Amino acid sequence: MNEFELDRYSRQILLNDFDISGQLKLKEARVLIVGLGGLGNIAATYLATSGVGHLLLVDDDVIEASNLPRQVLYNENQIGQSKVAAAAEQLKQKNPGVEIDLIGHRLTENALLETLEKVDLVLDCTDNFATRQGINRACWQQKTPLVSAAAIRWEGQLVSFLFDQVSAPCYECLYPNLSDQALSCHESGILSPVVGLLGVYQALEAIKVLSGAGCVEHGSLKLFDGFQGRWREMRLTQDKECQLCSKVPSLT
Ligand SMILES: [Zn+2]
Repeated sequence: MNEFELDRYSRQILLNDFDISGQLKLKEARVLIVGLGGLGNIAATYLATSGVGHLLLVDDDVIEASNLPRQVLYNENQIGQSKVAAAAEQLKQKNPGVEIDLIGHRLTENALLETLEKVDLVLDCTDNFATRQGINRACWQQKTPLVSAAAIRWEGQLVSFLFDQVSAPCYECLYPNLSDQALSCHESGILSPVVGLLGVYQALEAIKVLSGAGCVEHGSLKLFDGFQGRWREMRLTQDKECQLCSKVPSLT
């Protein structure tokens, strides 16, 4: 790490249980962020500014006016532009030391599995259950840590999965039968700071997993109610009937 980096990250390095070793682990880390909406904008910003060395951004969407309250990396004059390209440009300005790769299309299951071989951690910042289930399956198969978050209306949730642990639950244990009748922000609404809060929390969990500093609770579902201003927590256990993690997987 050079003199400028030591200065830039000095407030993080000051933390005893993070230290220079934690900062170096962030610098070496590669994180896949799927979805550059409200969650992905915020999580990617904190990971880039905190010094995560390599980000892979995946999103096939373009910026719309209704995104702007939550997706704070984008500006009005960028409506119609690719989200990943616009996000990468902003993140590069904030921290030119971060390498950023862009994937402007949806990943097939095989492409996702191949991509996971090159990353240390995945942030699921998507907004539909089919994609969430696909990311969960791929991360489970490759034993890649996954930090999953979601937000809708006044509510948000977050859960981290460390799949190398024995009898670790997975996202499918939590939601075995969900299809895409599920809620979307498009139909149900979302208050912008709620999604921002969950994006920041995802970045914190990712930094803890990557650096080895702090406590990451595998399978602890954190539920936020922004209307009441309250957090709740539920410990997930592996569903013995889970089609993915309790059986030999069939990914075809
Ligand atoms: Zn499961």
